[in-house]
Amino acid sequence: IVHWPFSATQRRKLNWVQLAGHKGNFKAADEGTILKKFSENEMQCFEKLRGDALLPFVPAYHGVVEKDGESFLHMADLLANFDLPNVMDCKMGVRTYLEEELVRARERPKPREDLYRKMVEVDSEGPTPQEHSQRGVTKPRYMQWRETMSSTNTLGFRIEGIKKCDGTCRTDFKKTRSKQDVIQVFSDFVGGNVNILKSYLNRLAEVRQALKMSEFFKRHEVIGSSLLFIHDRTGNAQVWIIDFGKTTALPEGQMLHHDIPWQEGNREDGYLWGLENLIHTLESVNVQ
Ligand code: ATP
Ligand code: MG
Ligand code: MG
Repeated sequence: IVHWPFSATQRRKLNWVQLAGHKGNFKAADEGTILKKFSENEMQCFEKLRGDALLPFVPAYHGVVEKDGESFLHMADLLANFDLPNVMDCKMGVRTYLEEELVRARERPKPREDLYRKMVEVDSEGPTPQEHSQRGVTKPRYMQWRETMSSTNTLGFRIEGIKKCDGTCRTDFKKTRSKQDVIQVFSDFVGGNVNILKSYLNRLAEVRQALKMSEFFKRHEVIGSSLLFIHDRTGNAQVWIIDFGKTTALPEGQMLHHDIPWQEGNREDGYLWGLENLIHTLESVNVQ
């Protein structure tokens, strides 16, 4: 039992919520910071973002640290300045796997039973007869299927999870696909508060502007990255760009549009198209 008044650390522990990824991937760290399990790829992104237009929209990065024999990326805890935050993770883009994952799965298919079971849980008709008989699906197949179930393919983003200030947490948005459904989820998330909604829309316009200026964005395929929405009852509302685990540099001299359709080989991620749709969706939320 935690008694009032909470210490800063206690409050932080109560605040902290992880809406995606493996639970073991994160650790608490010094005041206002967290540790995320090291990935070479993500580290390189943070390093390259240092002088970029996107810097004000990504968590402050404090380098690599070792703890209990493991390496971590040390970064700002975006929830630290909030009082009982509401948090939403929105995964951006029209696909959530790398082209190279697709190629690998085609050359060396590795059917996985855990993914087969996850698929059946959502839709028993999901697997093909062959997948049923081998009780396994490959990772890209699972991810592609998830994209058709959610709004990833149709809107260029999908809701991964939401935690509300009352403590309730939902990650069961695998079948939230239509614009109408997404509007409903957002409407519920902002609790009919027009100021929060306006702050989010302003912040998204800033994010869009920064993306268009960013050298980093031009030269990277941005896959599996999320926008993290955070607000509390004081009216503080922010949007941050997180998760560069699968954000990959293009070969020297190559650039992406981020708003044209993906065809295998062109590496387009649909990020800007998704952001445009996300903004329109939020504009369609009616508040009293
Ligand atoms: P996945 O690839 O499955 O999405 P991951 O292991 O790459 O997971 P992230 O997506 O980076 O992890 O983060 C998972 C969750 O942790 C986010 O949805 C968010 O709730 C929380 N989180 C991540 N980074 C931060 C941060 N800097 N501040 C506060 N919360 C964070
Ligand atoms: Mg993520
Ligand atoms: Mg990730």
